[in-house]
Amino acid sequence: MWTIIFKATMVTVGVIFFSQIISFSIRWSSGQPFTAFVFLMNSVLPLLTAFPAGFMVFWQNEKLRVALRALEEANRQLEQRATRDQMTGFLNREAFFDRFRALRRTRGTGALLMIDADHFKAVNDGFGHQAGDRALELIAGAIQATVRGEDVIGRIGGEEFCVFLPGVDSREASSVSERLRQAVEHLVFEPAGGARRALTVSIGMTMDNGAGTVSQLMRRADRCLYEAKHRGRNRVVSEPALRVA
Ligand code: GH3
Ligand code: MG
Ligand code: MG
Repeated sequence: MWTIIFKATMVTVGVIFFSQIISFSIRWSSGQPFTAFVFLMNSVLPLLTAFPAGFMVFWQNEKLRVALRALEEANRQLEQRATRDQMTGFLNREAFFDRFRALRRTRGTGALLMIDADHFKAVNDGFGHQAGDRALELIAGAIQATVRGEDVIGRIGGEEFCVFLPGVDSREASSVSERLRQAVEHLVFEPAGGARRALTVSIGMTMDNGAGTVSQLMRRADRCLYEAKHRGRNRVVSEPALRVA
């Protein structure tokens, strides 16, 4: 409010100043005297008109600025809700694939990891859905803590996550996958009365050299994941990149 009053005052002072100068110049050039009454009128009239007008304009401006800021915030929240998973804060399935496609176009190569929590139904059945949710949050935290800031994480299903590591070679990708697997294995999850329950994930990883489609890559990662489950879970199975014909 004080800022608006200050701005309106400055405008009024400016208007008074210029009206005095203009009035003085006109009177001087036409030989009329510049009386105290003229000076008073040149001050009072702008004060009665310029100040309220200035105040209204600045006040409306401020209201518009506040409304715009609220609109931007609402927009940001809407976009957040449309693209993010509420529980983990990761990208949801659609947003993940959009981002993945965009990154493939700009970065070209990388690695795609498909991560699935092992025997998760048993966690829910044994300790309840709420404990299951806590376990998922822990797993999400381990994924987040293992990857780099530029990597893209998505929750693509209930207890299934995808991570795209742009620009990595197969050695780096294997190392990240293994560190991720271990990070989950070392999580402390105590769902009931201090008793610890192990959490593990299986990971299917495929290298991406830019060839093929996103669906092909997903199928390859999914095949690796299936193989990891088949070989006993809590492991990483990887495939090299598609051969370019
Ligand atoms: P596998 O090792 O073969 O993956 O076994 P699994 O039990 O993890 O696989 P399955 O697909 O049979 O079960 C997945 C379970 O994950 C069932 C579902 O209730 C649970 N789940 C999915 N989303 C959530 C969630 O948001 N919260 C909780 N608590 N459980 C979830
Ligand atoms: Mg599972
Ligand atoms: Mg699953």
